[in-house]
Amino acid sequence: MLRYEETHRYEAEYRILTPSGDIRWMWARQFPFLDWQGQVAGHTGIAVDITAHKEGEAAKRRAERLAMENREMERFTYLASHDLKEPLRTIQNFVSLIHYQHGDDLPPTLIEYLNFISEASARMSMLIKDLLVYSRLGRQKVLVEVDTRVLVEEVLQDLAGSVAEARAQVELGSLPCLKGYATELRQLFQNLISNALKFRQEGRSPHVWVGATRKGKGWRFAIKDNGIGIDLTYHAKIFELFQRLHHRTEYEGTGIGLANCKKIVELHGGYLEVESELGQGSTFFFFIPDPAEA
Ligand code: ADP
Repeated sequence: MLRYEETHRYEAEYRILTPSGDIRWMWARQFPFLDWQGQVAGHTGIAVDITAHKEGEAAKRRAERLAMENREMERFTYLASHDLKEPLRTIQNFVSLIHYQHGDDLPPTLIEYLNFISEASARMSMLIKDLLVYSRLGRQKVLVEVDTRVLVEEVLQDLAGSVAEARAQVELGSLPCLKGYATELRQLFQNLISNALKFRQEGRSPHVWVGATRKGKGWRFAIKDNGIGIDLTYHAKIFELFQRLHHRTEYEGTGIGLANCKKIVELHGGYLEVESELGQGSTFFFFIPDPAEA
C-alpha cells in the first residue's frame, strides 16, 4: 500500500518557457508517496498556470507606484507655486511703490521698464494661480450624479461675455446625466469651450458644437469648433503643461488649460484626444466611462 508523506510536500512558483516562446508563471504543489517500507516511491501533485494573477499583481504595483509619483508631483507643484507667491508679491509691491513715490520724476525709459516688470509679474501670478488649480484638481473628489446639459448651460452663462464678444454661435447636441466629479467636469467644459471661442479664425464667424454620444460602457463628448485648427505635429504636445503654439500677444493664456482637461478626464478613468487640421477647426473628444456599466 502506498501512502502520502504530508511532511515532505513542497510548493513552488516558477517560470516556464513554452514551445511557442511564451514565458508562463506556474504554481505547483507536490507530495512524495512512500511504499510499504517507507521509501519514496514517486511524487504526485498539481501545477497551475498563474500568469494572469502574476500580471495583475505587477499591474497593481505599477499603478500604486504611479499614483505615489503623481501625489509627490502634485505636492511639489502645490508647494512650489505657493512659495513663489510671496516673492512675487514683493516685486509687485515695490514696483507700485516706485510708481507712487517717484512716478513724476522718472524718465520714460524707466517707466517702460517698470511696466515690463509689472506685466511679467502679472503673467507669473496667472501661471502660479493656474498651477495651483492644476495641483489641487481631484483632491476632494466626490462622485455625484451630474446633468452635463445643465452644467454646460451654466458654463455658457459664465462665458456669455466671451460668446457675445466673439459673436459666436454655440449649439448643444444631446448631453447625458452621468456619475462624475462636478467641479472638475465644469472646469473641463469651461476650458474646452473657452478655447473653442478663443482660437477662432479671423474673418469666419465662430461656431461651436457641444454634444455626446454613447460609446461602449461610457460617453464620448465632443467640442467642435471652426477655428484656426492645429497642425498634426502638435496634437500630442498641446496636452502637456505650459505647451502653447502661439505667442501671448496673439492669444492670451498660460498653456495649462489642456493639461488640466487631460488630468480631469483621466481622474474619471477616461481619455482626451483631438482631431484637427490647420485652418480647418478642431474637435476635442473625451471619453468618460459610466461606473454603473463598468
Ligand atoms: P492656453 O489656452 O492657455 O494657451 P491650453 O493648454 O488650453 O493653453 O492650450 C494649449 C494650446 O493648444 C493653445 O495655446 C493652442 O495653441 C492650442 N489649442 C487649444 N485649443 C485649441 C482650439 N480649440 N483650436 C486651436 N488651437 C487650440
